[in-house]
Amino acid sequence: MNLRQTIPAELRYTFKQFDRDFPTDDACLEAIKEQRFPGGESECRKCLKSRKHYRVHGRTAYACETCGNHIYPLAGTIFEKSSTSLRIWFHAMYLIGSTRCGISAKQIQRETGVTYKTAWRMFNQIRKLMAEEIQLGGAGGAGVEMDEMYHGGRRKNESGRMLGGDKTNKTIVTGIVERKGGRIVARVSPRITIAASNALVKEYVLPETVIFTDDATAYNALPKVEGMGYQHRRINHSQKVYVSGDVHTNTIEGFWSLVKRGIGGVYHSVSAKYLQSYLDEYSFRYNRRDSGNLVFSSILERVGEMASRKPALEA
Ligand SMILES: [Zn+2]
Repeated sequence: MNLRQTIPAELRYTFKQFDRDFPTDDACLEAIKEQRFPGGESECRKCLKSRKHYRVHGRTAYACETCGNHIYPLAGTIFEKSSTSLRIWFHAMYLIGSTRCGISAKQIQRETGVTYKTAWRMFNQIRKLMAEEIQLGGAGGAGVEMDEMYHGGRRKNESGRMLGGDKTNKTIVTGIVERKGGRIVARVSPRITIAASNALVKEYVLPETVIFTDDATAYNALPKVEGMGYQHRRINHSQKVYVSGDVHTNTIEGFWSLVKRGIGGVYHSVSAKYLQSYLDEYSFRYNRRDSGNLVFSSILERVGEMASRKPALEA
């Protein structure tokens, strides 16, 4: 993926357009209401019927047209308890959705005018929206590549080069990516074992998928994962054979280099504690890389999706 490629006009969402779509807190609230209760229609808890709800002036509530009972679109969302304005949250979501190679909390601070602490907290909350549970591959597809990356654990005063084979301080990330422009799942793994690899594919890879890996022993039992019918093709990296016909793991290596460049260039360093959420952020954008910078609307959709999984608490 070329990070500097220009976005075609139809996939470009400029700040000017964003500013016109979301000029005020009210406009942002209206957008969240539309995500959760399209057209203002919602089951009223008192009428026990689907009713139209109208905005209650000066509050983040909408009232039932018949009985006046209130619903709260922000309940259960990342905005519920925040004292930061919705418009600033949306601006931060726009920035995170528009970047191609990552953005820092410092940049969000500068662009939105909030404190660094607030920018950092917003970023973490927005990343939670970007964590997705998706399933890859499937019968008849081009297959998936599975590979691992070692992150961090560098020693001080060392110019970045690891000692040969010293992987003890590193965090392991396992990635699975669909070939042919497909989507990715990347998970921090406590260890790389046969059991861990098998559990991961069972969770994220559909039955009867062809799985391409290198020759690491952790992948030895993929075809034996019960009831999944995976086919396994492997490439012998340790003998410096990287491509042989269609058996290669180049697609996932492209994603690793994107993540490494992002962490090195934008974030400088990421602790193991936050690594998963950075991976979620990068994967979310990667999985929408053909949407230009229209990723903002996908993040906004996630607000409603995530909130509807929680019980509809009333604020
Ligand atoms: Zn009602």
